[in-house]
Parts: sequence; C-alpha cells; structure tokens
Amino acid sequence: MSKKIKVGILGATGAVGQRFAQLLADHPWFEIQTITASDRSAGKTYAEACKWLLRGGMPDAMANMTLVATEASAIPQDVRLLFSALPGSTAGAVEEELAAAGFGVCSNASSHRMDPDVPLLIPDVNPDHTALIRVQQAQRGWRGFIVTNPNCSATHLVCALKPLHDAFGLKAVSVVTMQALSGAGYPGVASLDILDNVIPYIGGEEEKIETEPRKLLGTLNGDTITPADFMVSAQANRVAVRNGHLEAVAVKLKRVASLEEVAAAFSGYTSEPQRLGLPTAPDPAIILHSDVDRPQPRLDRLAGKGMATSVGRLRPDPVFDYKFLVLGHNTIRGASGGALLNAELLYAQGYLTA
Ligand code: NAP
Repeated sequence: MSKKIKVGILGATGAVGQRFAQLLADHPWFEIQTITASDRSAGKTYAEACKWLLRGGMPDAMANMTLVATEASAIPQDVRLLFSALPGSTAGAVEEELAAAGFGVCSNASSHRMDPDVPLLIPDVNPDHTALIRVQQAQRGWRGFIVTNPNCSATHLVCALKPLHDAFGLKAVSVVTMQALSGAGYPGVASLDILDNVIPYIGGEEEKIETEPRKLLGTLNGDTITPADFMVSAQANRVAVRNGHLEAVAVKLKRVASLEEVAAAFSGYTSEPQRLGLPTAPDPAIILHSDVDRPQPRLDRLAGKGMATSVGRLRPDPVFDYKFLVLGHNTIRGASGGALLNAELLYAQGYLTA
C-alpha cells in the first residue's frame, strides 16, 4: 500500500488505549494521527497524561503527541478510523456523534454491541456480518460507521466454539470464567480485595457472555442477524492474575462426534484472517494443547502475540458431551488486538481507504 490510513485512538490513556498505542506503533497499514482522552487530559502531551502500564515503554513517536478532547470538532478530517477504548458510560453517544460526522469507529465498548444494525465482529468467526455497515449507514444516515468487538471472555469463548458450531452444531454451552485483573482497567480491583482471594462476581459480565455468542454465531439474513439457537450459561469470577482469561467450558453438540473429531475441528481450524493474510492474524488461530496442565495464563497468554486462542484438557463430560479449557489474552485479542484485526478486515473488504 502506497499511503497509510490515518487513525486515532479514543481513550488513549487507559489500559486498552495503551494497547492500541503499542499495537499501532509499527503497523504496516495504519498510522496514528490523533489521540483523545477526557477533558482532564486534553491539552496535555501523552507522556504527561498517561501512566504507562505495559512492558517495553511508551512508543517514542507518541510521547509528545497532544491529547485532544473526545469530540468530532477536535479530530482532523483526514482521519479515517477511530479505535475506541472509551468507558461504556461515555462511548454510546460519543461514538454515534463521530460516526455521523463521517468517521469509522472500531469500538471495544459494550454500548452498541447488540444494536441490530451494528456488526459485532470477530474476523475468524463472522466476517460476512460487516455487510451490516451498509444497513447501518442507510438507516441512520451516517457517512461513517460503528463496528464493535465482543466482550473479552466472549471473544475467546466464541473463537473456540466456532469450529464446533460449524462441524457439529451446538445445543448448549456452560462456561465458568477466571478473569484477569487487567480486564477491570487500571487500577481496577483494590489489592486488598483480590490478594489471597477470588471474587465470584463481575458486574454485567455474565449477561454479555450469555448473549454475545449467539449474535456472533448467528446468520446474516438480508438486513438482520438471526441469532444462533443454542443457550449459554456463564459464571464469571475475578482472579489474581494480571493478564489472560481462563475459561472452563462444557458443550452439548447437535451431532454425535468422537473425541478425535472434536480435537481435529480445533486444531485444523482456519478462517478468513489467515486466508487474507491480515497483518495481526494469528496462524494458527487455535492452539490445541495435549499436556494435562495447559493452557495456563502465565505460559500461554502471549500465544500468537496475544492473538491466538489456546484450548486444552479436552475430554468427554458425563453431563454435557465434551469439556475443555480456553485461554486468551484479554487486552490483546480480547480488546485492542481484536479491534485492530476488525479494522484490517474492513480494509481488506474495501470499507476503508487512505
Ligand atoms: P480505563 O483504563 O478506565 O480508560 C478509560 C479511557 O477513557 C481513558 O483514556 C480516559 O481518559 C478516557 N475517558 C474517561 N472518561 C471519559 C470521558 N467522559 N470522555 C472521554 N474520554 C474519557 O478503561 P479500559 O480498561 O481501558 O477500558 C476501555 C473500554 O474497553 C471500556 O469500555 C471497557 O469495558 C472495554 N474493554 C476493556 C477490556 C479490558 O481487558 N480492560 C477488554 C474489553 C473491553 P483519562 O485518562 O483522561 O481519564
């Protein structure tokens, strides 16, 4: 590509915003043109406003960039795409304002995920759902658009369910999550609450994990998505791990399948991002472990540079058909990396131009 696409990061100083900054620093297709935060930070340089939390330090090119307010009038018109790491409480109205003003928005926030005309996208799972962008623009009269990526636990759960859904059909899914601290942003859960402890509640999380997979694995019918017809039961827990959500999953299948067939469905899974050679796509997308004590957050969260989903302990289940563990990085594939892969798919499909 002769010219990179100019992009911005909304909420650039937060936990997810910093991941965007890191992942976009040397991206072959996108270059960061603008960064925004709250009014508390607008006018400051990134180095002044941002308490950098990631290994490797703040990208040099960003340290002296000035943060602007998160509003359409503050964003240069040659910016084509905005990556949103805004809190759910503000994202809803702001993202709509920006899409109406002509910007594409790839959002991590939950505000628009379940809107019928907004793609809830994982390029490995439902790349055809981007067709909703045209529906959204026609219905809302927008020149821009909003595309969302799922909840961090739902992302890795659905990446693992997709090959099973395709090969055997899903009747029912049970998932118990052990979610990392970084999923709550910074500073997140108080240290005295989580050290020596597990907190068996994450507000709003179970509802997202129970609803988003059915839209993601649903079928595009003209202007709408018909949700997949299986039910999900989710129990979400916060554990004292920095990064990487581990999920204990059990599935009931529509078609009888042997253990070998289920294992082959996981390990042989390949999809649109690998076929298109998207820069951030992991290959393989799913890593199937045979060791009895894998995957583990500390050992496996950076598989595929944090973009792969690890599956392990696959075995028959006496109540459901099979059970297994799923692990994935929550702030890379589960947040910023997922939105970045969405943007790469949008470019490959012709929704973005320089
Ligand atoms: P965070 O650390 O609290 O960061 C929030 C960012 O938004 C900061 O840059 C903050 O700027 C900015 N902001 C706050 N209020 C604002 C306002 N009124 N107007 C404009 N900007 C404002 O949050 P996070 O953990 O990065 O999460 C960001 C989003 O991603 C949330 O919607 C979250 O649910 C979602 N998400 C997070 C994860 C995860 O693993 N953490 C995973 C998936 C999705 P200041 O520095 O100026 O306050």
